[in-house]
Amino acid sequence: MRKLLGAAVAAVFAFGVHAADRALLIKDVTLIDGTGAPPMERVSVLVVGDRVSMISPGKIAAPKGAEVINGKGKFLMPGIINSHIHLPGGRAGRGNRDLVMNVELGTKAMHGMLYAGVTAFYDSGNHDNYAFKMRDDEQAGRILGPRIFTTGRLLTHPKGYQCCSGGLQVTDYNSALPGLDALLAREPDMVKFTRERRGMSADSENLTLIPLDAMTRLVERIHNAGIRVTVHVSDEELARESVMAGVDAFAHPVYLVEATSDLVRTVAVKRIPVSTTMGRVDTDMSVFDQPIFVQTMTEEDRAENKVNPMYAGSAAGSWRGSLMTAVIKNVRKLYDAGAILAMGTDRSMGAYVHREMELLSMAGIPNVDVIKMSTLNAAIYIGKEKNIGSIERGKLADLLLLDADPIADIHNTVKINSVFKGGMKIDRAKLNVPANHK
Ligand SMILES: [Zn+2]
Repeated sequence: MRKLLGAAVAAVFAFGVHAADRALLIKDVTLIDGTGAPPMERVSVLVVGDRVSMISPGKIAAPKGAEVINGKGKFLMPGIINSHIHLPGGRAGRGNRDLVMNVELGTKAMHGMLYAGVTAFYDSGNHDNYAFKMRDDEQAGRILGPRIFTTGRLLTHPKGYQCCSGGLQVTDYNSALPGLDALLAREPDMVKFTRERRGMSADSENLTLIPLDAMTRLVERIHNAGIRVTVHVSDEELARESVMAGVDAFAHPVYLVEATSDLVRTVAVKRIPVSTTMGRVDTDMSVFDQPIFVQTMTEEDRAENKVNPMYAGSAAGSWRGSLMTAVIKNVRKLYDAGAILAMGTDRSMGAYVHREMELLSMAGIPNVDVIKMSTLNAAIYIGKEKNIGSIERGKLADLLLLDADPIADIHNTVKINSVFKGGMKIDRAKLNVPANHK
C-alpha cells in the first residue's frame, strides 16, 4: 500500500507541479484535520501554492525546492476561525455610535489574532465603509491579518437593538430596499439581522423589532442575491420566529433562558449553525492574565478590560454573568442534539478564541469536537467550508502547528509553533503585539 501511494505521489510531482509553485512539506506530524476525525499519527501533508495538495499516512517525497518541516512530536490542526467578532476600529464612543475608520487599531487587533493562531474571522456587524475597506485591504495584501468575512452593516429597527451603531434601520419592506440593495451590491459574506427585545444592560427598555413579514421578505431577497443570513437573538420565541423567517445561522445560542428541547431539535435538524459566544457572558476577569492575553494585549488594554463596567463591578456585569448557566446548558443541549456549533467569541481580542475553547471544553465537549467547532464548523457558519476550515486536499492551507497535543488538553492550542495562511508561514516575531516589544 505504501509503495502504491509512493508511485502515485511521484506521478503527481512529474506532471502536476509547476516550477513557480511554492511547496511546503510537513512530515511525520500528528494530524487533527478539523473534521472531528480522530488524530492520525505520522502523517505527511504537502502544500503546493496556497492549497493542500496531498495528505498521506507515511512519507511523501519532497518536491524540488520545497520547504520541509519535521513534524515529529508536533500537532497540525487547521487555523482557528472565529465566527463572531466586531473588528475594532470602525465604531467608537457611547453605544458605538461614532463611526470611525481607525485602520491602525484594526490592524493591531488582527496581528493579535494571527499571533494567537486565528486565520479567518467573521465580522458580525460594524461600520460598513470600514469593514469593507478592511476586507479589500486584506485581500489585496495591503494589510496583514486573518481572512476577513464581513456583514458590513447589520439590519435593525430605528428603535431596535444596535439601532444606532451604523446599522441599516428598517421599518418596513419597501422603504428598506434602497439601503438593502446598496448593501448587497457590496457583496457582504452574510447579512445580519437583530431580533431582540432587550439589550445587554440589566434594565434596558423594550426594544422594537423589524416586523416579521418584512424580515421574511427581506431574507428572501437576500437569498435571491445568493447571500446567507444570520440573526442576533437571545430568547426562544424570537429564535423560532427567525427560523420561520428563513435565517441560515444564529449569531448566539438562546442565552436569556434555557431553550426547550423542541427548539434545539429544530435547529439541529435544519442544520442551522449557532455561534457559541460564551465569551459574551463571561465575567471572569482573570482570563486577561492568561499568557496568550499578556502576549497579545497591552498592559493598559488588559487593565481597562478588567474593569469594563459592561462585564464587571456593576449591576449590568453581574446580570450578564448570571446568564452563563443558561448558555452552558443551551450549548450542551445543542451539542447533544448534533447541531452545528461554531466557535465564536463576540469578543474581539485575538486571544479570546482560546478562552472560548476552554469554556467549551469545560462544558464537557470532547476536545476533538471543540477543535472542529473552532475550524470546520466556523467555516460552515460563514458558508466558506469549500475553501477553509479543515485540512483536506484542495483546501487553502491555513494551518496551525502546535508543540503539544490539544486533544489531551485544550490549553495546548496556545503552544503555537507556527501559523500558516495560504501555505505561507506567518513571521510571528514581526507581528505588532506586546510579546514582540520587549
Ligand atoms: Zn456581536
